Amino acid sequence: TSLDSYYDEKCSYIEHHGANIPKHIIGAALKKRVESIDYEACEPGDEDTFFVADLGEVYRQHMRWKLNLPRVKPFYGEFCLSWGFSQANVTSAVKCNPDAQVIRLLSELGTGFDCASKAEIEQVLKTGVDPSRIIYAQPCKTNSYVRYAASQGVKQMTFDNADELYKVKKLFPGAELFLRISTDDSTSLCRLSLKFGAAMDSTNGLLSLAKELGLNVVGVSFHVGSGASDPNVFLKAVQDARVVFNQAESYGFHMRTLDVGGGFSSDTFESMAAVLSDALDEYMPSSVSIIGEPGRYYVSSAFTLATHIIARRTIENPETSEKSYMVYLNDGLYGNFSSIMFDHQNPVAQVLRTGNRTYFDTFAARDSHHGIEYSIWGPTCDGIDRIADSIRFDHTLDVGDWLYFEDMGAYTKCSATRFNGFNDAHDVIYVASEPGARALLGMK
Ligand code: PLP
Repeated sequence: TSLDSYYDEKCSYIEHHGANIPKHIIGAALKKRVESIDYEACEPGDEDTFFVADLGEVYRQHMRWKLNLPRVKPFYGEFCLSWGFSQANVTSAVKCNPDAQVIRLLSELGTGFDCASKAEIEQVLKTGVDPSRIIYAQPCKTNSYVRYAASQGVKQMTFDNADELYKVKKLFPGAELFLRISTDDSTSLCRLSLKFGAAMDSTNGLLSLAKELGLNVVGVSFHVGSGASDPNVFLKAVQDARVVFNQAESYGFHMRTLDVGGGFSSDTFESMAAVLSDALDEYMPSSVSIIGEPGRYYVSSAFTLATHIIARRTIENPETSEKSYMVYLNDGLYGNFSSIMFDHQNPVAQVLRTGNRTYFDTFAARDSHHGIEYSIWGPTCDGIDRIADSIRFDHTLDVGDWLYFEDMGAYTKCSATRFNGFNDAHDVIYVASEPGARALLGMK
C-alpha cells in the first residue's frame, strides 16, 4: 500500500538523518497565534497559554518504533499514541496525554491503547477503536469500571494480587488476564513498581489461584518505570517474564502475549530498543506476540507550550545596582507545568520573539556571568509555583513577551488543575509536518 511504501521511505530517511523536527513549522504556528492577539482590547483568556502540537512528530516517532522494535506492537499508554502499519499492532498509553487528535491519529494508524480508567476506555471506544485493541492496564481496578469493561467487550486486563483475582472472578470471569510482575525501576524518573507488580516469589501462587478460580491467564506484563534510564532492566524483566511464562504453562494456561509496558524516552530509545529486542529474541519464541505501552515516547517532543509574561518585578542589587527580574507567567505548576512536580521535569524557557525580530529565538543564556538574570513563576498565589529559579537571557523581558517550552507533550496538561480558578483547558493548535499524518487526518 502507499502507507507501507511511505513507511519504508521514512524509515530509511530516519536511519540516515535522524528523526528531526522541522521546527520552522511550529515556530510559524506560534507566531501566527501570538501576533493575532489584540493586547489592548482582548477578553480575559484570549492571551492564555496554548500548545502547538506537531502530529507529524507522533508519526515520526512511530516510524522509529517500527524500525527499532519491529516485533513489538505499541498500545499507546493512556493515550501514549500507538501507530500501526499494515499488521502492526501497537498499544499506546493514553494516560500521558489523552489528546483527541493524537488518539485519532493512532487509531488511524491501527495501534492499540492502554487505558487506566473507564473514561479512558470510553474515549478510545468513541474514536471507533475495536475493544480487542484496548488493554485495561491497571492492576487495581474499580469494581464498576470492570463491569463497564465487561459490558463493552474490553477483555484484556492486568492483575498483580489475589484480591483482584477474586474481583475478576465475580465481575468478569471471561477476562483475558495479564499477570503484571514488578521490575527494578530504581533508575527511572517515576517509579511504578513501588505500587504495582507481583514479586517473583508470589507469581506461582497467583497462577495456582487463577487456575483454581477457572480464570484465563493469557500473558505477562511489566513496566520498567516511566523515564527509565538503564536498558538492562528490560533484559532482567524479560528473563523474569520467561520464568512466569513457564510457570503458567505448567498450569495449562495458553500464554500468548508478553506486554513490555512503557518507560521509553526519545533520547535513549535506540539503546533501550536494542537490549529489549535481543532479550525478546533470546527468551520469547516467535509464537509469542509482543505488545508495548509507550506513552511519553510518542508525545513528549510533539507538543510545544507558549506562555505569556503577565507581570514582572524588578529586583535591584543595592551594592552593584545590577537589576534582575522575577517574571510571572499565565501558566505554572498547578497548570501545564505540573510535570515539574509529578514527572520530575525541568522545562527550559526560550524566548519567542515576534514582529520584525527573529522569532523562535534560541535560548540566549550562556553562563552565570552573562546576560540578565530571571526567575520564572506561575500565576497562582502559592510560593511553590516556581518554574525556574535562575535563568539568564541576553535581552530584557517585559510584560507581554512570550516564552515557549519544548517537549511538553507528556504528563503536562493531563495533570493540570483549576487551582485559583485558572483555566486548565488550553487551546491546542495542530500542525502536521509529515504528509502521511496529514493524509490520515484529512489535514491540509
Ligand atoms: N503503562 C502503564 C501501566 C503505566 O502506568 C504507564 C505510565 O504510568 C504507561 C504505560 C506509560 O509509560 P511511559 O509514559 O513511561 O511510556
